[in-house]
Amino acid sequence: MYGACRKASICCVSYLNYGQNAQIYPNSLGNQPLHAMTIFEKIIARQIPAKIIWEDDDAVAFHDVNPQAPVHVLIVPKRVIPRLTDAKDEDRALLGKLLLVARDLAKKLELSNGYRVVINCGPDAGESVPHLHVHLLGKRALAWPPG
Ligand code: 5GP
Repeated sequence: MYGACRKASICCVSYLNYGQNAQIYPNSLGNQPLHAMTIFEKIIARQIPAKIIWEDDDAVAFHDVNPQAPVHVLIVPKRVIPRLTDAKDEDRALLGKLLLVARDLAKKLELSNGYRVVINCGPDAGESVPHLHVHLLGKRALAWPPG
């Protein structure tokens, strides 16, 4: 199975494996090594440890290893979508769910004074893991605009 995208002068094919349900997704930036699992897939597969605080069939939430606020949680779909640019209309429900999980975790983590939800998409946004994820940050005042 394979997926391909053509953008400007690049043509890329990305292989993203998730357990036995190996799935291939077009990668808008073409920077996914062939056959590589993302670090988040490894967390989902329990190949590397993480402080997981919530999980269901569709997504998982765990504390960021390099927190930028007293609460910094990542909400990650189990099915790999490299980044928002690669999401399809069929992903509407999953994308909505990620936000509602952020809402619920903000309540669970007592972010009653406010919180920020962030999706970094692509190089200019500082995306470092090509597996769509929502940051939930809170428990301190957050500056605006972000750097
Ligand atoms: P991005 O920069 O792609 O929006 O966010 C990626 C986030 O993943 C960063 O905040 C980074 O600290 C976090 N991260 C990267 N590797 C790991 C890891 O192995 N474990 C955990 N828990 N977080 C990670």
